[in-house]
Amino acid sequence: MDKQEIRLIDILRDKISKNGPINVGAFMDLCLSHPEHGYYMKKDPFGARGDFVTAPEVSQIFGEMLGAWVADIWHQLGSPEAFTLLECGPGRGTLMADILRATRGVEGFHSALDLRLMEISPVLKSMQEEKLSLYEPQWIEGIDEIPQGQALIVIGNEFLDALPFRSYQKTRSGWAERCVDVKDSELVFTLLDEETAPNCIPFHLRDVKVGSVFEYSEVRNEFFRNLSRILADQGGAGLFIDYGHEKTAVGDTFQAIKDNSYSSVLNDIGDADLTSHVDFEMLVHNAIREVRVHGPVTQGDFLKNLGIEIRAQMLIRHGGEKHEAQIKKDLHRLVASSEMGALFKVICMCGKNEPELKPAGM
Ligand code: SAH
Repeated sequence: MDKQEIRLIDILRDKISKNGPINVGAFMDLCLSHPEHGYYMKKDPFGARGDFVTAPEVSQIFGEMLGAWVADIWHQLGSPEAFTLLECGPGRGTLMADILRATRGVEGFHSALDLRLMEISPVLKSMQEEKLSLYEPQWIEGIDEIPQGQALIVIGNEFLDALPFRSYQKTRSGWAERCVDVKDSELVFTLLDEETAPNCIPFHLRDVKVGSVFEYSEVRNEFFRNLSRILADQGGAGLFIDYGHEKTAVGDTFQAIKDNSYSSVLNDIGDADLTSHVDFEMLVHNAIREVRVHGPVTQGDFLKNLGIEIRAQMLIRHGGEKHEAQIKKDLHRLVASSEMGALFKVICMCGKNEPELKPAGM
């Protein structure tokens, strides 16, 4: 164990011994976002040598497809002379850099662009600054800082899964909340008695078998709801890509990833990425009525509908034989059902626009 790990564990132990067990959401928040020792606060977690590889880090084609998607929405909005392009959780800035490179030839697009980034990690912020300085991005802390009075296009890849959630488990006597406690100086899960099912558990899931786990993220839902209000008001579209399930269901999806493999969520405190699957049905329910939600569709279908296979062929033709195998491998990783193609889903919400927006790929 390194020094920092011990210290975050100590902070956790101290907090729990003073105030009792903490819920999974508070645990996740501390492990990821503690100002000094939180996972996102101290290092760059991406890439082949990092903890996990995201779609934009797999291949530039992913960002190129999203660039075409964003440019198409901008055209459908009537090519406004000024609009906000916001990325939530931009990581290393790779996706946005690819989007902006892919849209260089779209007349008027770059001069209309007001680029905003919402990022919690100072380490990643400085990487974004370096990569995107040409486009003069401005960072915002929350979506309430989105500029008013102009159309908005928002994207987020693997952003929602990083937001905290809470976890409930069915017991013989009812539902209880899964919390983190300390026993013999070790972190352990415990169940806090709560006999009545919390309101967030849908009625059709309350009678599941003992031991079933239900996960609920008010933070994600609230984010989606608030963004839907802004889109309804200002016009535009939001596109989110993440792993998760189409229908609200029971299942324990809380996971920790370190060095590209799964680790126990109670180990490697502050040194592993913690996430859970996104409940897309819940997101749809949370968008206000004035917006139109499209999807979710699988990432594989979305990218194929946008023409990713044709783009890959073009790159192969220009890149020579050496690159062919790599491009095919990357494409497979992004679209195959056995890879990212089926687990990852894409959801889009569109504000009230005249004429109605028809997001591509959905
Ligand atoms: N979109 C990138 C990174 C995904 S990882 C990619 O696809 O490679 C999640 C990203 O969300 C990281 O940049 C992380 O620092 C950021 N993040 C996590 N929680 C956040 C929060 N509450 N507000 C803003 N950014 C957050």
